[in-house]
Amino acid sequence: MQTRRSTELFDRAQKVIPGGVNSPVRAFQAVGGTPRFIERASGPHLYDVDGNRYVDLVCSWGPMLLGHAHPEVLAAVGRIAVSGTSFGAPTELEVELAAEIVDRTPVEQVRLVNSGTEATMSVLRLARGITGRDKILKFAGCYHGHVDSLLVAAGSGAATLAIPGSPGVTEATTTDTIVCEYNDRAAVAAAFAEHGDAIACVITEAAPGNMGVIPPAVGPDGENFNAFLARTARAHGALFISDEVMTGFRVSRSGQFGLDGVEPDLMTFGKVMGGGFPAAAFGGSADLMGHLAPAGAVYQAGTLSGNPVATVAGLTTLRLATDEVYARIDATAERLRGEVAAALTAADVAHVIQHSGNLFSVFFTDPGVTSVPDYATAKQQHVDRFRAFFHAMLDQGVYLPPSAFEAWFLSATHDEAALTRIVEALPAAARAAADA
Ligand SMILES: *Cc1c(COP(=O)(O)O)cnc(C)c1O
Repeated sequence: MQTRRSTELFDRAQKVIPGGVNSPVRAFQAVGGTPRFIERASGPHLYDVDGNRYVDLVCSWGPMLLGHAHPEVLAAVGRIAVSGTSFGAPTELEVELAAEIVDRTPVEQVRLVNSGTEATMSVLRLARGITGRDKILKFAGCYHGHVDSLLVAAGSGAATLAIPGSPGVTEATTTDTIVCEYNDRAAVAAAFAEHGDAIACVITEAAPGNMGVIPPAVGPDGENFNAFLARTARAHGALFISDEVMTGFRVSRSGQFGLDGVEPDLMTFGKVMGGGFPAAAFGGSADLMGHLAPAGAVYQAGTLSGNPVATVAGLTTLRLATDEVYARIDATAERLRGEVAAALTAADVAHVIQHSGNLFSVFFTDPGVTSVPDYATAKQQHVDRFRAFFHAMLDQGVYLPPSAFEAWFLSATHDEAALTRIVEALPAAARAAADA
């Protein structure tokens, strides 16, 4: 496979952009090799600057639910852009997008922002402002964007690069962050027993997807981990925040909430709701959201928040994301999980595949491991096997997330031809993993 132009661009990029990329995982550091510079994308395909075509299983890390360059999304963007691209004043589109989110989820009000990071940062301030408490509880391996106080034992790029925290995040910022292992009820109970009256909120990914996919476990009493968190937080006067930036409008019409029905106090959204543009949101009951300026005292603002181009892209995407779209992606994901499992089993490669709705990931575990309930277990996977698997897939034109700690993303445009291309690449990749 020709990679001359990507290599040249990466050399140039490294001179003018730190590490050559604008978000760490893109640099391929965990898998090695040359990151592909993408020229264009269409449906399920990415095309790089060397003319290679890939079936894309990253989908911009989630947003491209309808596939790349969806004609109706592009048309809506074009129509709006010629009317002006930013007004710094309210628009009808913002009302429509907020109403669409309210219609799909348990929140009554949302505030639109520009990135998932901004949503989680703002929602923490709101939770602290409402409760008058300082501490927050999060889970190891959950990623909530690069917010200082949440950049402790974080997933995604931090997991990929094995960064425990980050220089520049002060001790003062993180002393109020309590970290528990995911799915560990005893640890959460102990944290509340010790700090109960100081904890403002529990924040969790609704179904973690940034340390690989780790669904909320159902306990012996039948209670889902999210339900346990909501109940425990409320018993101590704390708020339960569900971060649905990744799962929202992806794993179902109503995100993870649509799968487990656990009602959070506050929620965050991003990725799919921006339709490939920078848009995100946080929301909750009118009562809680009423604490936000200008209705209330907790300050939050944004020059480009509710930007008309991003808003129309998100709104058009959500309106096109019908039950049929979700059913189709769910079916494709189920088939693909089966094919990956079959190829790895045939090559005698130990693995665990976990999913929540259509979001799934593959862990290259030790033989005998049957589930990955938390970050401690996720970290034990054989990243060398993933690396070999990744490159064998890439060489055959399938673009996987360049990290063993990320979910695989499908779109409604991943059709029979795209699936066939992936399935045909699997046996050689499985053998490469076996030989690693
Ligand atoms: C991607 C992600 C974020 C951060 O969103 P950005 O738009 O990258 O800032 C936050 N939370 C979760 C669960 C995510 O997957």
